[in-house]
This record gives sequence, structure tokens and C-alpha cells, in this order.
Amino acid sequence: MIYDIKIYGNDCLRSVAEPVTEINSEIIETLNNMVETMRNIRGVGLAAPQVGINKRMFVIEVEEGDVRIVINPEFLEMSEEKESNEEGCLSVPGIYKPVKRSLTIKIKYQNEKGEEIIEEASELLGRAFQHEYDHLDGVLFVDKVSPVAKRMITKKLQMLKKEANRG
Ligand SMILES: [Zn+2]
Repeated sequence: MIYDIKIYGNDCLRSVAEPVTEINSEIIETLNNMVETMRNIRGVGLAAPQVGINKRMFVIEVEEGDVRIVINPEFLEMSEEKESNEEGCLSVPGIYKPVKRSLTIKIKYQNEKGEEIIEEASELLGRAFQHEYDHLDGVLFVDKVSPVAKRMITKKLQMLKKEANRG
């Protein structure tokens, strides 16, 4: 099943998501649908709040066929060294701006089998982990762009918001 993506201006993108307490069949089905939805729109990541589900989980597919199912993630380390690179978001269509992120991170999470995974990541994957994690705390990449970039996108954001409120 393909979910509707919630767009900027929708309240569900701004709340702090709840931990997943039990990885049951409903959660697994939701995650499978999220992977299907992400692939359908050729995204590299999709977090549950983006489809209106208030749970701490997301899916990532930075390289085709290499899907990560990430439940209850926690950063163990985030490098002080940062790097700026362009980002976009399925919930903020048409806007791409550079965001500063830690160069490398170490993250702990559960996969769909409930196994604990600890992983180090950098570059595109490290960035995807940080971007998707932010969604679980109601944070969007446009919150983190430079003041100059922010000014450039203010109008577009207002238009997205208007549309979200109409729908
Ligand atoms: Zn996003």
C-alpha cells in the first residue's frame, strides 16, 4: 500500500514521535508500506511522521536494494566536524538547500526483527540517518538552512503551508 506523503504545514510533521514498544505485525506492515511508498516516489528515506504515523521509525535506501529499517534510533556519536551539502525532503517538495551535518555518526537502532544494530555511517548514508532522525523530533531540514537560504525559501514555504491547510 502506498501512503500519502504529508506536506510542510501539516501538524504531524512537527510533533515528537513515540517510541515503538512492540515490533508486531502491524508495525512490520507499516514499515513495508513505507518502503513501497519511498520507492514509488524515488526517495532515499522516509520517516513515519511523513505519512502521519507518530512512531520513532524510518526507512532508508541510499543505494538501490540496500534497505535499512530503522526502529527507535539513538545516536551514540556525532562528529564535531561537519559538512554542508544539498538536501531535499519528500515533505518539502521543490526545495533543495545545503544543510550542515556531522561528517560521521554512530547510531544504534532495532531492525524489523528486533535485533539491535550499531552502525557507523558518513557521506550520503550518514546524512540520511541525521535527516530522517530529525523527522522523529518534528524537525525539518528547512529549519537548519542558513539565514540567507531561509530568506530565499520563505515564500515557497508559505505557499506549501497554505496548500497543506487547504487539503
Ligand atoms: Zn525529510
